[in-house]
Amino acid sequence: MNNETATPVLEVKHLKKVFGKNEVLKDINEQVSNGQVICLIGPSGAGKSTFLRCLNMLDQPTSGEVLFEGQDLTKLDDKQLDKTRENMGMVFQSFNLFPHKTVIENIKLAPVKVKGEDDATATATAEKLLKQVGLENKADAFPASLSGGQQQRVAIARALAMNPKVMLFDEPTSALDPEMVGEVLKVMQDLASEGMTMVVVTHEMGFARNVADKVWFMADGYIQESAEPKTFFEHPETDRAKDFLAKIL
Ligand code: ADP
Ligand code: MG
Repeated sequence: MNNETATPVLEVKHLKKVFGKNEVLKDINEQVSNGQVICLIGPSGAGKSTFLRCLNMLDQPTSGEVLFEGQDLTKLDDKQLDKTRENMGMVFQSFNLFPHKTVIENIKLAPVKVKGEDDATATATAEKLLKQVGLENKADAFPASLSGGQQQRVAIARALAMNPKVMLFDEPTSALDPEMVGEVLKVMQDLASEGMTMVVVTHEMGFARNVADKVWFMADGYIQESAEPKTFFEHPETDRAKDFLAKIL
């Protein structure tokens, strides 16, 4: 496919989000093309989560457009939006698994309830996904019996069960003990190499450097820099980015 002309999977135009007097996102204009991995980084409070939530309309943008495969989500009614959201998997810092359901029940829930998949199909998909995230022996376990890293891998499998076209990750490893970060990043890296389109908010600079096609650096309401990781990490252009990198690297 010719990337120059293909419709981006996601595109935002003049995206603005205000909470009261707090102008969190001032004017964001970016595109994510098919198969691309974007790592969104920036200081705490910069608006990274808000941006991600605007991408799937969990937060309603104040103005601007959010296009998914060319369709402006801000123009859709709730029913159309629910349908479109099925294509967008989201993984949060807190895993948000249903505590009274087993691992496999957690994964099957949306495909059965939302998509109307039959039980056998949903089970087969769930088993395949559990294998993919290295948890094939945990199908019947309850979330509380799993480590944080295992729970997050289940959360990823659950999102994948809807067969999304894009995966949005909001600091998926930030709540984990350090020894569990790697196993989750590995699953994400595998997903990226299989061609999944991903937007990842992360403080894991190693992951950004190795896996991202592009790094977006957000601060003060704007994407200040959008560059290939090598360029961004070795030659940040703005003082804001230099300052940020000096603090974290
Ligand atoms: P980040 O994820 O980069 O740390 P956030 O998107 O969480 O930043 O927050 C950006 C700013 O928006 C912060 O000042 C935060 O207090 C504010 N904010 C986020 N969500 C809300 C909300 N629902 N209501 C009011 N303010 C919010
Ligand atoms: Mg955040």
